[in-house]
Amino acid sequence: MKDYLVKGFAYDGTVRIFAANTTNIVREAQERHHTWPTATQALGRTLTASVIQGSFYDGEQSITVRIDGGGPIGKILVDADAKGHVRGYVEHTNVNLIYDRGPKKGQSAVGQAVGTNGFIHITKDLKVRDMFTGSAQLQTGEIAEDFTYFFAASEQIPSAVGLGVLINDDSSVRVAGGYILQVMPGCKPESLDRIEEIIKTMKPINDLLDVGATPEDIIDILADGKWQRLLDLDLSFNCDCSKEKFEKGLLTLPENDLKELLQDDVTETSCQFCRAKYEFTKEEIQTLVEEKDAK
Ligand SMILES: [Zn+2]
Repeated sequence: MKDYLVKGFAYDGTVRIFAANTTNIVREAQERHHTWPTATQALGRTLTASVIQGSFYDGEQSITVRIDGGGPIGKILVDADAKGHVRGYVEHTNVNLIYDRGPKKGQSAVGQAVGTNGFIHITKDLKVRDMFTGSAQLQTGEIAEDFTYFFAASEQIPSAVGLGVLINDDSSVRVAGGYILQVMPGCKPESLDRIEEIIKTMKPINDLLDVGATPEDIIDILADGKWQRLLDLDLSFNCDCSKEKFEKGLLTLPENDLKELLQDDVTETSCQFCRAKYEFTKEEIQTLVEEKDAK
């Protein structure tokens, strides 16, 4: 089944709910970056929330999400656009931590791996003159709570976020997905009470995904069975890197650094978002040096 997102309006149009299945995206990220389970979960949850948030926007607009909590995983960086494309990476891929006590004993320790000694930054490129960056202190490092707090603190939008990534014994991704629910002005207090009640009593998103719940099923639960479908969007892991872009990058190097590359027969560059490799021969580097000289 392909990855997709559904947007619905509920509670008389005062609540918008986005739900997505992101299994293929997170699986591809895991395979490209060879992440260990806790790193896969942290990156997968961030990819899921980001691709959903990307769908809030239009046309060529996009966002960049940066999470840096000081934990062993290092930074997480994710780009998402309004067309359902997302790409991302985590700084340290070889992280697998399990909570050894407390209510989450036995579960993957995502919050511990991400850390809470830092911020979530979200930069919006709305294709107007300036970009906007909002930031919020990380709350738990579990990602969903951090996005929830970001929406409240930085955007003043009361929200609920649920994210899930399930991992097989062989470290591959079994299933991934999530939702973002946002309360718009005019929402009645009794609707808010009902939503709170539903979120408190509904099964964890991991359990729902594990038994095959679709984005529609998740919206149905959150909307108490009554909602209006507004948008369907196909989602995919998509990196727009290319050899030409890396060429441009090499041209920005100081001339001496570029000339130093002539010592090697082949210069290999690698995209940090998707791990694609691009090779430049000595002759190609020589052409770049001449191009730079001509400027
Ligand atoms: Zn790439």
